[in-house]
Amino acid sequence: MSHRHTAYVGRFAPSPTGPLHFGSLITAIASYCDAKTHQGKWLIRIEDTDIPRIYPGSETHILACIDAFGFQPDGEILFQRDRLDLYENVLEQLKAQNLVYACQCTRKILGSNAIYSGTCRNLNLPFQNQAIRVKVKDQLICFDDRLQGIQCSNLAHDLGDFVLKRRDGIINYQLAVVVDDYVQGMTHVVRGADLLDNTQRQIWLGDLLGYPRLHYLHLPLAMNAQGQKLSKQNMAAALDLSKASQYIQQALAALHQPAVDLDTPDRMLKQAVAQWQLNHIPRQTRLAGTYL
Ligand code: GLU
Repeated sequence: MSHRHTAYVGRFAPSPTGPLHFGSLITAIASYCDAKTHQGKWLIRIEDTDIPRIYPGSETHILACIDAFGFQPDGEILFQRDRLDLYENVLEQLKAQNLVYACQCTRKILGSNAIYSGTCRNLNLPFQNQAIRVKVKDQLICFDDRLQGIQCSNLAHDLGDFVLKRRDGIINYQLAVVVDDYVQGMTHVVRGADLLDNTQRQIWLGDLLGYPRLHYLHLPLAMNAQGQKLSKQNMAAALDLSKASQYIQQALAALHQPAVDLDTPDRMLKQAVAQWQLNHIPRQTRLAGTYL
């Protein structure tokens, strides 16, 4: 299916690294309502390239949630694990253009947060069994987030050349997300503010590949009582399918949206779309209050 001529194509792109939690629901609802208020299409993509991090059963839970919460995607659900050839092809294209290189530096040598200094950039190492990094330039990349405003980063100063494929052969999220957003004809990305600082990497990669730029909206994150964002890693509670309607009310309240009547989830989502007020969402990276 081609969405290339639709003015708005959005998505919800969970990773099956744990069950969906309240923060995931906020992202799902906001991306859904934003797409629907623009008469857009809304697609679901399961981002499962990082096989070692897949949490058993979480994919089933994600799919059950989509159903139980009344979401109706406008196309088939796509799984990144079925598309590894596509990402490899794009890597070949980048290799042919000399935009990437093999890197033998281990995380142990580099430290986890270090800015990569380009040690391997000019070593011309063979690609076999090495990580692959994309070259970045010393230039400011900015975008105007629809909620958070102008965001700029100089990747050379803030990050350095970054990994597209790991030494263990796993395709990095940054590459898969950029390729799929393009191939699926996405125009709009609505997701959590935890990915705000990944966006310049994705813009850089998309620019290198000649893909059109997307519109971005990064939502404030739901935090737990310990001041951490709700995440699969810190054991946020799995969404309970039997409480879908109550959760929808809570998620809309968290986004400062008008209340919807307690009803079946699909009817509640319809009302949420009809009442959607993008401007009411707090222009912050964190929501006030705490969530489970
Ligand atoms: N798969 C990513 C996650 O679960 C989201 C990717 C995106 O929306 O760009 O955090």
